[in-house]
Amino acid sequence: MFNGRIQGVGPRYCPSIEDKIDRFSDKDRHQLFVEPEGRDTVEIYINGFSSSLPEDVQYKALRLVPGLENAKMFRPGYAIEYDYFPPTQLQTTLETNLIKNLFFAGQINGTTGYEEAACQGLMAGLNAALAAKNEAPIVLKRSEAYIGVLIDDLVNKGTEEPYRMFTSRAEYRILLRQDNADLRLTPIAHRLGLQGAEGRMERVHAKNRAVAEIDAFFRNASVNPDELNGYLQSVDSALIGQKTKLHNILLRPQVDIPGLAKILPELARFLAPYDLEFVEMAEINIKYDGYIKKEEEMVSRMARLEDLQLNADFDYSGINGLSIEARQKLAHTRPRTIGQASRISGVNPADVSVLLVHLGR
Ligand SMILES: Cc1cc2nc3c(=O)[nH]c(=O)nc-3n(C[C@H](O)[C@H](O)[C@H](O)COP(=O)(O)OP(=O)(O)OC[C@H]3O[C@@H](n4cnc5c(N)ncnc54)[C@H](O)[C@@H]3O)c2cc1C
Repeated sequence: MFNGRIQGVGPRYCPSIEDKIDRFSDKDRHQLFVEPEGRDTVEIYINGFSSSLPEDVQYKALRLVPGLENAKMFRPGYAIEYDYFPPTQLQTTLETNLIKNLFFAGQINGTTGYEEAACQGLMAGLNAALAAKNEAPIVLKRSEAYIGVLIDDLVNKGTEEPYRMFTSRAEYRILLRQDNADLRLTPIAHRLGLQGAEGRMERVHAKNRAVAEIDAFFRNASVNPDELNGYLQSVDSALIGQKTKLHNILLRPQVDIPGLAKILPELARFLAPYDLEFVEMAEINIKYDGYIKKEEEMVSRMARLEDLQLNADFDYSGINGLSIEARQKLAHTRPRTIGQASRISGVNPADVSVLLVHLGR
């Protein structure tokens, strides 16, 4: 790899030890994890020491690690090279454009990672089954699931190096939360008749109900200064001078539901029957309501603008305010709609806003 015989781009996020020495030569320490391979074996995987150096060099290097002076080596490490079919040749259902009824999933599409492969396998499998039954396909939106972001990125932007899913690739991170994954996705699984979704759907209903009830309680209940000020003082939050709605108190960053429940017996009694997870979700919804609404508005605004047409011979070089990268990419790709433009790698939301202003929106 270092003398140029291998040209492939490796997975950026799983660098070998020689890669780390090359890229992070300023560091004077490196952490290794010593992971037993199983209960009934003496084999150990040295996590953080992957290498494609010659076998004798690997062995010598291994025995230089403090604590591993007497280690024996079962197998040397190896490097991997990625090859793939450009995913821009796929539809968002993961069906190939060239061959009808052929679906691609996983590393073949340019991704790396277990979860990346698994989620595509799920979607490709679902869509293959739906196609076989002549039913409408299922495509998750970017605002609906990380799976939606991953597939949309691959199909619309393609990838130059092994693609890994990161939260930072999603623009709607306030909507794509762990605590609401069940509310976002279980109804879809249920609608498609996926195994196990039946029982989980009941919990989704219970959670929705609970969150609405807890929200209503906070909007209706008020507290007096003498009940609350001790707690507010203890968490360094401004004291109240008059009866105040609990909802408004909870908006304060220092205040949380468990803290309030400790000093308000009525609240503690009300919350007692609820699952802790439901209470947490209600708290998140109340606290971040403003941000959540803002993001939901952005989603519907983008949905409305998705099909706004862009002229194919549009002169991007003349638009002030577009980044140079965006100008080049737009001129090269020539998107037909704002939606397509917004998904070009290198065109960020600020550039899309500039385009919208230019289009009088
Ligand atoms: C050393 C190493 C460490 C890794 N560590 C991690 C990690 O810690 N975390 C992580 O998330 N990811 C890790 N990855 C990446 C991850 O393993 C892969 O990205 C993922 O397994 C790809 O899944 P896949 O189903 O797309 O492909 P694969 O798992 O490669 O499955 C493809 C299958 O197709 C079969 N096949 C190929 N050709 C044919 C044929 N002609 N007919 C029939 N079958 C065929 C193969 O035998 C194979 O079983 C690692 C990869 C390597 C090599």
